[in-house]
Amino acid sequence: MNTAEYKFFIADCKKSIENAKDINIEFDIDDITLKTFQNYAYARKIAANLRQKNINHIDELLISFEKKFNENGAKVNWALDYDSLSEDIIKILIEKKIKEVNLFESRFIEELGLLKILKNEEIQINLQSNNCVIFEPNYAISQTGSLYLVFNSAIEMEQVLSAKMKIFVLPVNNVLKNIEDVELLSKLYSINKNREEYLPLTAFYSVKENDENNVELFIIDNGRTNLLESKEHRKALTCINCDACKKVCPIYSLIGDMPYNNVFTGPIANVVLPFLETIDGYKHLSFNCILCGNCAKVCPMNIPITDLVIANRNMFYENKNIDLPDRYRINILKKNLISRKKLNRAAWRKEFLMKLYVKRKITVKRPIPKFAKISFSKSKNK
Ligand code: SF4
Repeated sequence: MNTAEYKFFIADCKKSIENAKDINIEFDIDDITLKTFQNYAYARKIAANLRQKNINHIDELLISFEKKFNENGAKVNWALDYDSLSEDIIKILIEKKIKEVNLFESRFIEELGLLKILKNEEIQINLQSNNCVIFEPNYAISQTGSLYLVFNSAIEMEQVLSAKMKIFVLPVNNVLKNIEDVELLSKLYSINKNREEYLPLTAFYSVKENDENNVELFIIDNGRTNLLESKEHRKALTCINCDACKKVCPIYSLIGDMPYNNVFTGPIANVVLPFLETIDGYKHLSFNCILCGNCAKVCPMNIPITDLVIANRNMFYENKNIDLPDRYRINILKKNLISRKKLNRAAWRKEFLMKLYVKRKITVKRPIPKFAKISFSKSKNK
């Protein structure tokens, strides 16, 4: 791969690996999980199905959510990306003469670069203020038109709920049909993220009468419909950001967050970043995986992460997003791997071909593996 991003990625990976500790991956289901769920596998299955169902009907859910949310006079603002969001938020702040904002950092708020947007417009950030807050709810509930909020502390809860002006920003995929669905998803998130049974402080927020002018909700796409378009890849939109996949990924254990150069990191980032950002800037991540399958085994949403990584690779190959020399090598490997006759060739011939086509891409630390004298197929038939 010949992109600048790939070269920076490799350089950062090398730095991280030098400082990496031993890989220590634990798979056991612990007591707290067993105490919370009588049948953890069944709970995962139910949660994954309901989240997938919600994603499949996201258009209907968003329409019915908007209708309910509007009932008290508040308006949903739709934003496609960073640029349209930035324009609309600033317009609101200027109209309301707001010069100071309490911004509650979250991964989505970081992804949107809201801090930068506010700083560019010289809006002050005051983390004590309850004049105007910007906050990311966990979910929008279409049945009730309410928002499900999770707080890190009682002070945070007080600041958000008592704020004179509330601006909520929500990724478009986080809408649920029923209020009852929240409990199971929250428990799965809490167990996987923090090994805790329940989220500490939560609230369902609905716009109150006479408060409609002081509440703004932005529902933002930011590349998510690119994932929605593919029936296979839309499974990634069910992610609840629990980080369980990171904890069991041998690659992530070695390289950590730094080489990703993004707020999304770990196995799910390998799948989604080429869609959320650009293919050229992030395609290398789909090759940053040894396909061990640990992530898919632990994902509470049963997202087939390794299958999606392979789907990305195929897509980049088919759409010619991979450089010509790499495509050439892939073609040669493909021809050799799908032919039984070629696989049965003498070991020295296979080693010779590997050296010829692959070696230049492999570092000294990763020598070409030795081939068995007789192929498995031949020895089985002897
Ligand atoms: S992909 Fe699955 S395991 Fe990873 S963060 Fe998302 S929900 Fe959690």
